[in-house]
Amino acid sequence: MAVSLRTRLVVIMVGLSLGMAVVISLSVLLSFRHLIKQHLLEELREEASDFSELVDFSGGKILIRQGADWLEPEHKYDSDHARYMVITDTLFNTVQKSANLGDRELQYYFDLHPEDHSRLIDSKADSIHFVCFIRPLTASSGVRYGYVLSATNTAQTSTYISILERTSVIVVVMAIFAGGLMAVFLARRITRPLMAIESIAAGMDLSSLDQRITVKSKEAEIKNLTKSLNQLFERLQRSVRQINEFSSNVSHELRTPLTILRGNIEVGLSRDRTPDEYVSLLSDLLEETMHVIKIIDDMLLLARADNRALMVKREPIDLAQFCMEFKKDWEIFCAAKKQPLTCTVSEGIRVEADRTMLYQMILNLISNASKYSPDGSEIEVSVLRTRSETGHSVEIRIADHGRGIPSDDLAKVFDRFYRVDKDRSQDSGGIGLGLSITKMIAELHGGQVSLESMPGKGTTVTVFLPEIFAR
Ligand code: ADP
Repeated sequence: MAVSLRTRLVVIMVGLSLGMAVVISLSVLLSFRHLIKQHLLEELREEASDFSELVDFSGGKILIRQGADWLEPEHKYDSDHARYMVITDTLFNTVQKSANLGDRELQYYFDLHPEDHSRLIDSKADSIHFVCFIRPLTASSGVRYGYVLSATNTAQTSTYISILERTSVIVVVMAIFAGGLMAVFLARRITRPLMAIESIAAGMDLSSLDQRITVKSKEAEIKNLTKSLNQLFERLQRSVRQINEFSSNVSHELRTPLTILRGNIEVGLSRDRTPDEYVSLLSDLLEETMHVIKIIDDMLLLARADNRALMVKREPIDLAQFCMEFKKDWEIFCAAKKQPLTCTVSEGIRVEADRTMLYQMILNLISNASKYSPDGSEIEVSVLRTRSETGHSVEIRIADHGRGIPSDDLAKVFDRFYRVDKDRSQDSGGIGLGLSITKMIAELHGGQVSLESMPGKGTTVTVFLPEIFAR
């Protein structure tokens, strides 16, 4: 089961605040403990040092001067602040001890060793935690003759530490609580626009593609997501509109020749005919059938290209040879209107292309030039090398001196089934797929098409293709 983003965010943020609270509390606790220990060590060291001043060693005996130090309250009375002092010989036998020890022998609380000195020793005896500092006593001759022990119990510091420990636990619990509250608040804030977007997107279907997401958010990510989704809906809406237009165009374009076919068949069957009449009728039917097949072939070609299912069999083609080879075929298309076709091709220009597609692309353009130009008007095919932004390119230009295309229609003539109004009404024989196919073939070959036209003067269509060089 998928875990919701909201839950995940809450878990992550609570985990993070817990982790941070634990780390901070532990560091405070450990630093505090260390500081207290250092402070105690320093105090006991000073005490031991002060008392070592009261001790002399003479004639093999330890002599202790009595002074005010022995009478200070912390050495006299037993309390949490008491400092216990003992002066011992080298075997840890007491020579003198502070009054607050009474009958107790400080040495029994600790496991003392002659080598242990200048450090704190911990001991837990009589349920009290003691710490002790040992300072060796050394005569001027260098002989060690005893020790000063200074000790205290850690009851007070333990109280501080346990207060701090309890405070840390409270801090951690509060951090989890505060983190949880903040996490819920933030998770809601973050996911609210996402949920709004999701509910709009979930309710969308083909009939409501005109809807747009209008979630207001200050966050750049949400704004970008909203913008991208709205752009996606716009593209989908445009595509659906194009598909609808395409299907209605297809139906319309197929209906006309099929209606003609049916009419001709009905007329043919209405009475007995001579064999010659049947031959003429059948050739009319054949022509219409070829027209229907051409429409279907063109549509299939575009559909395959759209689905990336079109095989492009690329091969190196020398354009001068190619034009020489097919010029005669192209001339046939111009012959009916007695239009001369000229081919000007620079030598040595080669492209890598699918022969059949290249042929069809040029034929489409020559056929347009012928269709939309008057009888006897010249059609010029020229192939030249040009330097484009992407390096060397080949330009294949087909120019005519026909009626041209009105500027309002220029941007639309590459749309599928688009025909300039005049050509629809006059039925030029085209169905408005030629330029779409030309553009599709050029793009499949890494090229592009441009069109310039002056109404009344003529049209030039230029196909740009990448040139290949002999190795
Ligand atoms: P069609 O099969 O109708 O010629 P195209 O896609 O080749 O379809 O062309 C679309 C429309 O562009 C044509 O119907 C025509 O109106 C216009 N057109 C294309 N080429 C020319 C041209 N050389 N001269 C004038 N108009 C042209």
